[in-house]
Amino acid sequence: MNILVINCGSSSLKFQLIDAQTEQMIAKGLCERIGIEGSQLVYQPAGGAKEETVTPMPDHTKAIELVLGALTNEKTGVVKSLQEIGAVGHRIVHGGEKFAASTIITDEVIEAIKACNDLAPLHNPANLIGIDACRKLMPNTPMVGVFDTAFHQTMPKEAYLYGLPYEYYEKYQVRRYGFHGTSHSYVSRRAAELLGKNYEDMKIIVCHLGNGASISAVENGKCVDTSMGLTPLEGLIMGTRSGDIDPAIVEYIAHKEDKSIDEVMTVLNKKSGVLGLSDGLSSDFRDLEKSYVAGEDRGLRTIRTFAYRVAKYIGAYTAVMNGVDAICFTAGVGENSPLVRNLACERLGYLGIALDQEKNDKRGEELEVSTPDSRVKVLVVPTNEELAIARETFALVVEENK
Ligand code: AMP
Repeated sequence: MNILVINCGSSSLKFQLIDAQTEQMIAKGLCERIGIEGSQLVYQPAGGAKEETVTPMPDHTKAIELVLGALTNEKTGVVKSLQEIGAVGHRIVHGGEKFAASTIITDEVIEAIKACNDLAPLHNPANLIGIDACRKLMPNTPMVGVFDTAFHQTMPKEAYLYGLPYEYYEKYQVRRYGFHGTSHSYVSRRAAELLGKNYEDMKIIVCHLGNGASISAVENGKCVDTSMGLTPLEGLIMGTRSGDIDPAIVEYIAHKEDKSIDEVMTVLNKKSGVLGLSDGLSSDFRDLEKSYVAGEDRGLRTIRTFAYRVAKYIGAYTAVMNGVDAICFTAGVGENSPLVRNLACERLGYLGIALDQEKNDKRGEELEVSTPDSRVKVLVVPTNEELAIARETFALVVEENK
């Protein structure tokens, strides 16, 4: 069965068509600038040439219509008709406390996702638009929602509660939810597989270090803590997001800079993180590493501070689980930055961690980078959120048709 995976943002849409049996990607692409002038479709069949078509996309329905047109195109398409798409898996950012697992999308499910819109006002409405557009164009194709928050729903209360008046949790569901759940789940499972161990018997820490970054503690196959919170702003230092700060800074900066709370929040989300720390040099680690290697303070302080926070969380999560068997690095920075992995791990010698420098120098490969006698295994596991969504979608559709 072919599964179409859709990841819909407010003005963009990424897609992949995946053969659920072979787990091979058949085609992929994205629509950019939906609803904005200059929108374009990028489409690439596996092993084929990338096509870029600038064409008007006033809304998401038009974008999905173009995607389906590209997939079924006589010359460059990969399927003869839409009948060959067995199901659609939608990435949904926030499932609140309602969704602890992926689910077949029904009218009731859509209402329940809408009820979480307040928790992710930028993302959930866009995800819902994508679902709506797909349902219009493929009314008989089953749709599945896969939530970024679902994997973290197993966190115990002591991990997800904030030290705030309890009524805020009861009235407004103010608590820690965590994100990147599909990635944390995929990578931790894959790590157990690679090590030939039983997933349910392991203590794993996953460091998802991309433009957004989060860490999770996975004990016996269940997430017990993760660094992002009510929103993806909490936790690690990210590309442009601050991660953990003293909340009093919001008021302090608002006064000093004569900014509103909304304006300060924009600074925390868009102008902070490694971009802010490097004084605007870049949010991209490739640029920051160049600066680090050149011995410039901007690169040195930024990457050191970033890696320090990663090491700090690994220490905290080792305490949370009373031990750790494997630490995994994934996403853009985790997969491609030997420097960050080294700087984070060099603080963890007390755990009996030692990296094999030759292996750690590789980029983007799935491999164990610790030495054979390292007490804790360190792995690089490239994440594959699309494949994880396709797997979940396929499993639910097969179950439904039993
Ligand atoms: P992601 O959000 O997972 O797509 O990660 C994107 C980020 O990964 C980029 O902004 C870069 O900071 C980082 N990245 C990608 N490739 C490399 C590389 N070769 N070396 C270091 N960092 C990289």
